[in-house]
Amino acid sequence: MKFIKVVMALMLLVTLGACGSEDATALEAIEYNKQYESLSFSNLDIPVHVEEIDGITYADGVLIVNKEIPLPNDYNPGLQAETEEAYLQMFEDAAAEGLSFELVSGFRSYNYQAELYNNYVARDGKEAADKYSAEPGHSEHQTGLAIDVGSYDSAVLLQTSFEYTPEFEWLSEHAHEYGFIIRYLKGKEDITGYMYEPWHLRYVGDKATDIKESGLTLEEYFDLL
Ligand SMILES: [Zn+2]
Repeated sequence: MKFIKVVMALMLLVTLGACGSEDATALEAIEYNKQYESLSFSNLDIPVHVEEIDGITYADGVLIVNKEIPLPNDYNPGLQAETEEAYLQMFEDAAAEGLSFELVSGFRSYNYQAELYNNYVARDGKEAADKYSAEPGHSEHQTGLAIDVGSYDSAVLLQTSFEYTPEFEWLSEHAHEYGFIIRYLKGKEDITGYMYEPWHLRYVGDKATDIKESGLTLEEYFDLL
């Protein structure tokens, strides 16, 4: 949130600098900008509204699931309609530009996640498994708002090297236009608790552009740390 405030304050300063200082001395312009800056800071300092409804946590209306915040075991919505519509449209528009996407994973129930997670722990141990898999009740895939995407053309399904494909380049530029963000960012592993997952997209609707431009994880963006 702080980052956003600084950026907005800078934008105000640039705007004011561009239109307000033509006839003023440099000093006057600086004084004026300072006043405006402190005003904008207090006005923009709006707290995030976090609430829990039926065991589900929302930050400003956006459903939140992470290593700390779970979903109820019986939350079983399937892939949500808005997620499905958004990804189908996204895939169609990408196809028109010659890119081929596949849905690798969509909704996963609590029980299915438990099965996956337990298999990973048995294979790699808990510490390693926790970096790439969620404990049951903590997977974003149980929200019905997360998808894993890939491309058989590039043949790198669910591997970090997906980031070097033309498909990922396209996603980086356009996913937010469809309401998706890349949820587990590179360099943010300590915050999300997950390895970088360029293939994992989370539907957040009309907040996607703002979140993407902030460069923040959902946890940072909504001050949940
Ligand atoms: Zn995923």
